[in-house]
Amino acid sequence: MMDPSQYEKLERHVLSENVMNQFSYPRPHPHVKGQALISNAREHYFQIPSNGTRGCIRCGAVYSVYESGKAVKPEVCVYHSKRKPNQGQQYRCCGGNYNAKPCRTAPQHVSEEFDLSNMTGFLLTKDNTSVTGQEAYALDTEMIYTECGREVACLTIVNTKCEVVYETMILPENPIVDYNTEFSKLTSSDFAGVTTTLKDVHKKLLTLWGPNTILIGHGLESDLIKLKVIHDKVVDTLVLYPHKRGFPFMNSLQYLKDTYLPQCTYEGSSKKCSEDAIAAMKLVKRKINGPSRKIVQYNLIG
Ligand SMILES: [Zn+2]
Ligand SMILES: [Zn+2]
Repeated sequence: MMDPSQYEKLERHVLSENVMNQFSYPRPHPHVKGQALISNAREHYFQIPSNGTRGCIRCGAVYSVYESGKAVKPEVCVYHSKRKPNQGQQYRCCGGNYNAKPCRTAPQHVSEEFDLSNMTGFLLTKDNTSVTGQEAYALDTEMIYTECGREVACLTIVNTKCEVVYETMILPENPIVDYNTEFSKLTSSDFAGVTTTLKDVHKKLLTLWGPNTILIGHGLESDLIKLKVIHDKVVDTLVLYPHKRGFPFMNSLQYLKDTYLPQCTYEGSSKKCSEDAIAAMKLVKRKINGPSRKIVQYNLIG
């Protein structure tokens, strides 16, 4: 059980309904159980499946697919793994200039399917009567690409002591087309013998999360959407550490780690997933326990 005074401090940072909607958190449909509504879906969320074609979210190519989403003829995908820089600046993936040739090659294109009108199969944690305690957990997931878009492939949950309480690989529903290794750090060998499905994960989550649980993450809405979980009490480090230019600019977790947790070593974390969950927990604790001004200034200079 977490310290009640810590829970109380944390609760002050729980996102309001308005902010949750602004950040596209999945919210419960008023009439349909298990269905989520997502407001203000940002660009990468709203590519709705269209007849026979998809747009690659890495290189922009339009390619043909069967009804299942499988590419008719796999085509090599060449792309930059980081966003296009402004003129005069460099790509963060390869250091190339604005017009530089793509630096990465993958065997096929990948897409994101996201049918906002059909967000079903969501777990509503507020209905869970078996977990009622005041507890907080940080979580992180990694995504891979399947024939039907991005799916969650692993999940790590840590408690307020940054101890891993649940970590699992998740077998995607659809055939994998790209392990997204550069970002997920996952490869085919990570999936050897994996049989855990998202349904199994939901069963486990019902033993951990209830209506009073506070969930912590960085851009947690995307983890919750892919995990198909609707949860009311969330603290998001994107909101807790706003970008100096204001919304919609947002700080990356890497930037926050480098700036505020430069000494952090993430003992015992085996995957990037657990490292990022621990980082989110540490960033939140740092904020609610109010570091002195001196430390903040030191970090900014150092
Ligand atoms: Zn590049
Ligand atoms: Zn592509």
